[in-house]
Amino acid sequence: MPLVTPAAPLDYLGVDALVDDETRDLQAAVRHFVDERVRPHVATWFEDGRLPARDLARELGELGVLGMHLTGYGCAGTSATAYGLACLELEAGDSGLRSLVSVQGSLAMYAIWRFGSAEHKQEWLPRMAAGQAIGCFGLTEPDFGSDPAGMRTRARRDGGDWILDGTKMWITNGSIADVAVVWAHTDEGIRGFVVPTDTPGFTAPEIKRKLSLRASVTSELVLDGVRLPADAVLPGVTGMGGPLSCLNEARMGIVFGALGAARDCLETTIAYAQSRQIFDKPLAAHQITQVKLADMTVELGKGLLLALHLGRLKDTGTLDHRQISLGKLNSVREALAIANTCRTILGAAGITLDYPVMRHAANLESVLTYEGTSEVHQLVIGQTLTGHAAFR
Ligand SMILES: Cc1cc2nc3c(=O)[nH]c(=O)nc-3n(C[C@H](O)[C@H](O)[C@H](O)COP(=O)(O)OP(=O)(O)OC[C@H]3O[C@@H](n4cnc5c(N)ncnc54)[C@H](O)[C@@H]3O)c2cc1C
Repeated sequence: MPLVTPAAPLDYLGVDALVDDETRDLQAAVRHFVDERVRPHVATWFEDGRLPARDLARELGELGVLGMHLTGYGCAGTSATAYGLACLELEAGDSGLRSLVSVQGSLAMYAIWRFGSAEHKQEWLPRMAAGQAIGCFGLTEPDFGSDPAGMRTRARRDGGDWILDGTKMWITNGSIADVAVVWAHTDEGIRGFVVPTDTPGFTAPEIKRKLSLRASVTSELVLDGVRLPADAVLPGVTGMGGPLSCLNEARMGIVFGALGAARDCLETTIAYAQSRQIFDKPLAAHQITQVKLADMTVELGKGLLLALHLGRLKDTGTLDHRQISLGKLNSVREALAIANTCRTILGAAGITLDYPVMRHAANLESVLTYEGTSEVHQLVIGQTLTGHAAFR
């Protein structure tokens, strides 16, 4: 069987064969969706700096990928591995698409599913799973990204109500969200709040002039005396463990997802190098090109095996968050390196939106930074190895 054909996505190590038929079918359905619905338009969305998020959310809901690894409330209840492979296919289209799905399912829905009251779950999860309501997750602030525990957003009690004041920054889906999960300091510690975005005092101006994740909505959240009822607080958690557990869910999507962007770059580049004639023969027939392609294929294959391993650990309930740090660090760092190397093989053509490579490279700069920067994940691994926390 050929390891590389235009019809079969690059699977040099036969990783596809390591997953069960049901998971492979699901992955194929997401790939088909991306091919039909996203690929023909995504360069224009990126160029225009917009995403038809509402339409896409409904279609993604029908596809069953919103909160797909959660159970009940209309969620598909798949394995973590299946969720990861769906993210891989989505990000092969664009990291912005995968971000929409990650934030919806792993951050906003997961927070409500894991820590919310029965009423929160009934009110929001079925509509979010169907893509009829969009969620966002407000943790980062202008002055607190890698160290979110320093946040200034505050929730104080006023009679039976809560009043929220503060500013969140870099929030995916913020301006289009129907509901925001917002984390704030309270007298009891950090708590999460379920905030309908039509609550007076809540605004979400969109952040413009991005050079990365342009096919994704990124916003500021401004909370100016937002009055919420007593039951707006997530009852199931107090402290940073709440938001951090949500981030670990989303990071699993990134561990797989970034490799989808890398695979798309590599497939595009192999095809380009075959057709481009340089010094009287295909670019693909030159040794330097083959060395680059071989090295990238090694990293992609290793990354896929690692992702699959971590997915299986999660499915057996033995995954440690420090292992997710290693996976997130590896997948995004290597995907970005692959995208940048592919860009060199495409020459000048590589700087355009006619090919997906530089779009993926630009997107991966955000992915490298969000959900814990590469440096923060290195420090997590360093602390695990040495016992010394080098953050401060
Ligand atoms: C497109 C996009 C979408 C996002 N979506 C969301 C979202 O939906 N919700 C949300 O809450 N947040 C979101 N974020 C925010 C993201 O999580 C933060 O950007 C990230 O945590 C890093 O924070 P920062 O940008 O403030 O960088 P900083 O924390 O200021 O880091 C700057 C640099 O310092 C380094 N650094 C940090 N700590 C240390 C240390 N101890 N030692 C040495 N170096 C260190 C970092 O690695 C980095 O290189 C998004 C970001 C982007 C770009």
